[in-house]
Amino acid sequence: MEQRRTVYMDHAATTPVRQEVVEAMLPYFSERFGNPSSLYALAREAKEAVEEARGRVAAAIGGRPEEVFFTSGGTESDNWAVKGVAAALRKRGDHIITSAIEHHAVLHPCEALEKQGYRVTYLPVDEFGRVDPGAVEDAVTDRTILVSVMAANNEIGTVQPVAEIGRIAHDHGVLFHTDAVQAIGAYPVDVDGMGADLLALSAHKFGGPKGTGALYIRRGTRVATFMDGGAQEQGRRAGTENVPGIVGLGRAIELAVGEMPRSSARIAAMRDRMIRGILDAIPDTRLNGHPTERLPNNVNVAFRYVEGESILLLLDSLGIAASTGSACTSASLEPSHVLTACGLPPEHAHGSLRLTLGPGNTGDDAEYVLTVLPGVIERLRQM
Ligand code: PMP
Repeated sequence: MEQRRTVYMDHAATTPVRQEVVEAMLPYFSERFGNPSSLYALAREAKEAVEEARGRVAAAIGGRPEEVFFTSGGTESDNWAVKGVAAALRKRGDHIITSAIEHHAVLHPCEALEKQGYRVTYLPVDEFGRVDPGAVEDAVTDRTILVSVMAANNEIGTVQPVAEIGRIAHDHGVLFHTDAVQAIGAYPVDVDGMGADLLALSAHKFGGPKGTGALYIRRGTRVATFMDGGAQEQGRRAGTENVPGIVGLGRAIELAVGEMPRSSARIAAMRDRMIRGILDAIPDTRLNGHPTERLPNNVNVAFRYVEGESILLLLDSLGIAASTGSACTSASLEPSHVLTACGLPPEHAHGSLRLTLGPGNTGDDAEYVLTVLPGVIERLRQM
């Protein structure tokens, strides 16, 4: 098999920083290097850039600028939301509801809270990875302080009925947090429509830089301060801002959300062609995740009796960058918590292949993967 250029199909893990974003960021490393906290012109310029980015993030998610707090990424935003609400509302209650297939940035803080005496309900999901909103209703008690369910899953791409879940949480006077890290730029995200009191996002998932994200906190929501120190981020997340990163986040979200209708439709068509092509060409293959309530860029398939890591190594040797199981699981040979929660049958449970498409992928990329993948799976099945 011929070796060719890299076909990057791991956009759920991270995305290349767009050229327009790099260009927007560059001056803030050099001539516009001021600290936004200082008072002179150079500093005011940096402050204005941060506030402009805040406005762009707010506009992209339907919030107000003063409800957007910059963080170091999705992990910090999720940690802040979960631990911050738990700390602020400790006297009111000690119960949190989340799902079994959240990202570890939510699950691990929940586990840490359990060690401190909080109670956490991990809602099951159906075979497609969907949370039943009725199960949220059943789980709420008078001690519940937070419901946290992700907008879309990073592994299998399943989109959750968050608007309904948010409504149920509010009917019971409970705060609702959603991890929208994979949703931004994929489909419209609106904090009011979703009923989100807290929403996490991360720049490197939509053409922005790594190490930059935001937490939306609805006005009046009680959340403990994340970082003590200076007055940055209304004194709730202190520390000199990552000005170039924030500028990059602002530019990236503006571009990603602006281009979404066209780019998502194109990417979804490519996704559907790939899913059909893989299922048609390779016997004993299972599509993971929801068939329709699904991120436009997500292809996740399990091949009976084939182990995920071996597929990745062979694909890598053919210039294809993809992912298996839970990209964020440390012991990667363990079945992913997401696939396990979906009840994947044991003969499929050794890992899956996740191909996540992005704006840079072409029809040629899809055809190349469809051409080489059947041979890769056949080789592994014969071993
Ligand atoms: N939540 C989800 C759903 C994610 O996919 C990721 C990234 N894998 C994160 C949170 C963490 O984001 P970050 O890499 O910015 O810390």
